[in-house]
Amino acid sequence: MTIVGGGVHGVHLAIRLLESGLVDRSELRIVEPDGLLGGFRRKCAQCGMAELRSPFVHHVDSDPFSLRDFARRRNRGDELVGSEVGADRPTLSLFFDHADAVCERVDLESLVVEAAVTDVTDSGDRVVLETSAGRHTTRWCLLAVGHDRSHTCPDWAADLPASAPVSHVWDREFDPDAIDEFASAGVVGGGITAAQVATMLAQPGRDVTLFARSPFRVESLEAGTDWMHFSGPVADLRELPPASEDRARTVADARHDGAMPPYVFRRLRRAIDTGSVALERTAITTATAAGGTVVVTCRDGTARCLDRLVCATGFDSPYDGALFSRLRADPSLRTGYRGAPVLEDDTLRWLRADGSPSRIAVSGVAAQQALGPFARNVIGARRAGTVVLDWLDDELETSPSASGSSAVRTRE
Ligand SMILES: Cc1cc2nc3c(=O)[nH]c(=O)nc-3n(C[C@H](O)[C@H](O)[C@H](O)COP(=O)(O)OP(=O)(O)OC[C@H]3O[C@@H](n4cnc5c(N)ncnc54)[C@H](O)[C@@H]3O)c2cc1C
Repeated sequence: MTIVGGGVHGVHLAIRLLESGLVDRSELRIVEPDGLLGGFRRKCAQCGMAELRSPFVHHVDSDPFSLRDFARRRNRGDELVGSEVGADRPTLSLFFDHADAVCERVDLESLVVEAAVTDVTDSGDRVVLETSAGRHTTRWCLLAVGHDRSHTCPDWAADLPASAPVSHVWDREFDPDAIDEFASAGVVGGGITAAQVATMLAQPGRDVTLFARSPFRVESLEAGTDWMHFSGPVADLRELPPASEDRARTVADARHDGAMPPYVFRRLRRAIDTGSVALERTAITTATAAGGTVVVTCRDGTARCLDRLVCATGFDSPYDGALFSRLRADPSLRTGYRGAPVLEDDTLRWLRADGSPSRIAVSGVAAQQALGPFARNVIGARRAGTVVLDWLDDELETSPSASGSSAVRTRE
């Protein structure tokens, strides 16, 4: 069994597989170029996030109360902060300290292959992975690559020279600590990330402007709680054809993309009211690099010269990342609207062109048409874990050929 991606989803799936006894650790690999949880850790630091948006029962371990117990044992109960809806939320440091302890408990690090996967081929009874460290063959492959570095940049940023002081907040190179303490900085966007970046950068001596063209929207979670607590909405979603435009629209309509939770909005409001963040209710239309600065002109006719401009303009389609783009081009795997993988709802296995389930399963945002709008979140990893464990258990029980031997269960 090989998991591609060692983010929240990859780590949680690995822990569930190991603890279920379905997969022996000698047969499990996680292919990840950035270290376990490295990408998520970096993104949280890049946007200055202080605490999780989700409740304390959403974490990488299998026992829902593991993080709470971890906090209690270490007298860190005060790092569970209040929430407008439901349970308390962990601070970022508590979340990652707990995740690190869980990874250490099962020595997950020793299962990591430090490489990026460049191609995946389902060849009937095996899956062949091409990686930056060579070819790897496995019986089953779980894709957990998140958005796979695919993020949205405004059109006006496309032709800027690489030397222009303009970054996307999720660029690997973007380091907020490298911004000069007396810089004039601009932040583009109106959602949670833009608000967090603007308030993080707002320090005495710095001139921070937030370019947000639309009114702010405040929502506690990324979608309605019905999607989190009840099975009905997901069952209704699955009534629609898989990987269809209708499913894509249902998920998009359910998500509160571009909204921010109340505690982030309060911080932003305070920063705006006290003058540490200037709010420009307009859209940037052009940007020109000029002697180490960038000059932006806006739809309302104003112009500004900035030392640094940070785009917090969200993610692109998860199916446009490097690996999914490659897999979408494989005619033996079925894809649907805008390249979404056609997944078997009950197993998350990617269907082959002939309609049979392949040996590749998908977790995370790319499984949102099967699991709903929280598929990308920590709760989505927990749901995917349950689905994967169920089908793998069935597969190993009922199909001797799946194990490679009718007498012995071998799992790779
Ligand atoms: C700043 C921020 C805050 C968030 N806060 C919350 C929150 O509070 N609660 C919540 O539930 N959700 C939150 N989310 C949503 C969040 O994205 C998920 O919870 C989680 O990070 C998704 O995990 P993932 O494993 O799918 O993706 P990622 O965390 O992105 O991990 C994917 C991993 O795959 C690896 N990878 C990519 N391509 C390849 C390849 N070709 N080969 C090998 N490895 C590859 C990457 O290096 C990465 O480590 C937040 C997201 C962001 C960006």
